[in-house]
Amino acid sequence: MTVLETGEKHQELLDELLSDVEAYNSELDRDLLARAFRFAAAAHEGQQRRSGEAFIRHPWGAAKILAELRQDEQTIAAALLHDVVEDTETEIDEVRSEFGDEVTQLVEGVTKLTRIHFQSREQAEAENYRKMIAAMVGDERVILIKLADRLHNMRTIEYLGKQKQLQKARETLEVYAPLAHRLGIHKLKWELEDLSFETLHPRKYEEIKTMVAERRTDREEHVSEAARVLQLELDKVDIPAEISGRAKHFFSIYDKMAKKGREFNEIYDLTAMRVIAERGGDEGTRDCYGALGLIHSLWKPMPGRFKDFVAMPKFNGYRALHPPVIGPPGRPVEILTSKQGRGPSRDWMSLAKSSRARNKIRQWFSRETREDAEAKGREALEHALKGQNLPYAKLRGSATLAQVIRETGFKKADDFYLALGSGKLQPGTIVNKVVQRLKTEQVAEVHPVVRKAPKTQPVSGSDMGVVVPGV
Ligand code: MN
Repeated sequence: MTVLETGEKHQELLDELLSDVEAYNSELDRDLLARAFRFAAAAHEGQQRRSGEAFIRHPWGAAKILAELRQDEQTIAAALLHDVVEDTETEIDEVRSEFGDEVTQLVEGVTKLTRIHFQSREQAEAENYRKMIAAMVGDERVILIKLADRLHNMRTIEYLGKQKQLQKARETLEVYAPLAHRLGIHKLKWELEDLSFETLHPRKYEEIKTMVAERRTDREEHVSEAARVLQLELDKVDIPAEISGRAKHFFSIYDKMAKKGREFNEIYDLTAMRVIAERGGDEGTRDCYGALGLIHSLWKPMPGRFKDFVAMPKFNGYRALHPPVIGPPGRPVEILTSKQGRGPSRDWMSLAKSSRARNKIRQWFSRETREDAEAKGREALEHALKGQNLPYAKLRGSATLAQVIRETGFKKADDFYLALGSGKLQPGTIVNKVVQRLKTEQVAEVHPVVRKAPKTQPVSGSDMGVVVPGV
């Protein structure tokens, strides 16, 4: 029978995949994966990738990516089958009778997603696509398979024509990498971003890669010294934890240089360390805060930058503390104290099956998006003010800025920052207004006849920063 013959032709691929999955799943249904692999190999028999390789290498490659993320066997099987309905004569009912409802629903979901054609569009529109995907997909494993599919295609993008390459890379950067980010699968996100970056800006990519390589030893020494000090302290108080260095990725370096006008050194010195508490449950939670206390006693915290995702976990189940500190010797070290920073959580998945849950996801997406835009707005303003030698730290709570905000037509500071972050307001315009106002206030100081400008008054206990008087 042809199914067996074509399957046997690629036996070494199947063996490799089985051993990958068995490494983390000892109760693996080998038969399911073998059948899925042979079914796909037979369906794609005779088809080739642009690279000239047999087509089966593609679904197999996607399945390998998912095995690296330790996904369940239904997900791996569906990844093997993800293109049979779209690209071969196979009907979805054949998949159903061979593999049952669960695998079939995954394959169907991926096929539907594949049929949406994303083109390079405005960032704002990409945002809508992301929301739509989250809303329409009831099972996040579908998105995972789609992400693995895209990642494998990006890894082999060199075989496409130039135009197609640019389009795929843009789409990956605008739609897929942010999706991976939302799901908390950073490994996928970074690789998707770096591959897109390499395609879109090959020269800049090479430049940064070289700079990173030149500084690598230096950075590694710096991280391992800080890690050694911290490990010693953690041992003293019996907090079992694993410490690892976390390299910055090429695209994120470029992104910060391009968007925030920072120098390579400023960004690159922001070395990150990850501390993972080994115990779970309440003990783990206590360990996280214990480690935090230690970190703050060793290094100086960076004011206003601490984030607590342990007390308030992200919706995808990510629980971590982000206590940025100024590390030794005078360089910033970002430390993530994380109990579960690995993959997306199962809770999220089971939640996503009801329509109420899908609503929740939608709300979460818009809230997160809003928060992101607001933070971006604050940073943009801070940076623009810095360019004029104006201290944001002093201005953020001041009556001067509050008046500028009102003058621009905003009643609430967060709406104002949202407008800045989403590009509706230009930071340059705001800085000009601030400068104008400061000049007027100076005149007021010199000529007391004019009403004196209100004093700077920071808002206590609030991150909103600005109180608009009289509103
Ligand atoms: Mn595919």
